Amino acid sequence: MKIAVIPGDGIGPEVMEQALTVLDTLQTLDKTLEVETMTFHWDSVYYLQTGRMMPKDGLETLAQYDAILFGAIGDARVPDDVTVWELIMPIRKQFQQYVNFRPVKSLPGIASPLATKEPIDFVIFRENTEGEYSNSGGRLYGGTERELAIQNTVMTKEGIANIVSAACDYALKYKKSTVTSATKSNAVTHTMKFWDAIVQETMSRYPQLQLKSYYIDALVAYFVERPEEFEVVVASNLFGDILSDLGSAIIGGLGLSPSGNINPTRTYPSMFEPVHGSAPDIAGRGIANPIAQIWSLALLLGHVGRPDLEQLVVQAIEQVLAQSEVKTADIGGTATTQQMGEAICMALKGCYEMRGV
Ligand code: ATP
Repeated sequence: MKIAVIPGDGIGPEVMEQALTVLDTLQTLDKTLEVETMTFHWDSVYYLQTGRMMPKDGLETLAQYDAILFGAIGDARVPDDVTVWELIMPIRKQFQQYVNFRPVKSLPGIASPLATKEPIDFVIFRENTEGEYSNSGGRLYGGTERELAIQNTVMTKEGIANIVSAACDYALKYKKSTVTSATKSNAVTHTMKFWDAIVQETMSRYPQLQLKSYYIDALVAYFVERPEEFEVVVASNLFGDILSDLGSAIIGGLGLSPSGNINPTRTYPSMFEPVHGSAPDIAGRGIANPIAQIWSLALLLGHVGRPDLEQLVVQAIEQVLAQSEVKTADIGGTATTQQMGEAICMALKGCYEMRGV
């Protein structure tokens, strides 16, 4: 298996180092796991040196890998729209990674800021290649009183059906009974009504599943008031983006949340990355929480055919958190990034041995 690694900016390289140590540990434990990694330093420093976020043939290079493990991107010296539109978006769009998959799961030893007593355990399927983030539009009459900006939302029948099918397939595979759709068709009357219609049409092929459809403003309130109710949530690009960060917040923090940019057809490699960004405020201090990055590696392993190893890594993370001795600052402790990585590797060894019993 060949994995392309892009550590990125800020805390990206720091948390990536720990994820790669976890990968090394897995390879030592399980001789059937043969992984070759190649690191690409396509980051803001590369941009400052070359004027590009990646080489001209960057996508062709990445296409040769089975999957991509991504850290985080963002640096004050480079405009955010450059880092996003010249690196992340081309990868997501060109490789048709139309599913953005984000688990939202209570973890042992991590108190949710909500008063909920029930465990939270749902997943978000965010449409990842079109919708509100289609970069279609422009400005007219610059510098005059008539100046205006137009941003188009592009929703296609294929795009909506694809993300809803992916959510439903997941729901059936993991024996869930409901799929919740985020909409706003009462106010966004063209694209969101279309969204609702295609969601219904697609879900009619899954009679075992119940569709719940909520306006986005109500849904954000329900995420806070009764998050334990949700199983699988499907949303457009913008709504899914917002819901995902809220999802991270309700389980106790960005440092714990992984994500996958998935091409379910497997025509192109999928990319796995933490939900958090480059966190410039704590970069370089060795205190970032590496769990989101390590969990992203786990999702990658599950995607490339090793769900057993995915489960093992998640189990090791849960064990470390449950013991509560090693915690980084964001979750109320004093451990460094490296200490957290080492604790997870130790737990991994224990979990692997237990598995063999
Ligand atoms: P970017 O522009 O790259 O998204 P940002 O600072 O706007 O950067 P995040 O990087 O997601 O957004 O960080 C938001 C907050 O969460 C920051 O205060 C950051 O320190 C904290 N944070 C994010 N990731 C982690 C992590 N892995 N461990 C600890 N704290 C984190």
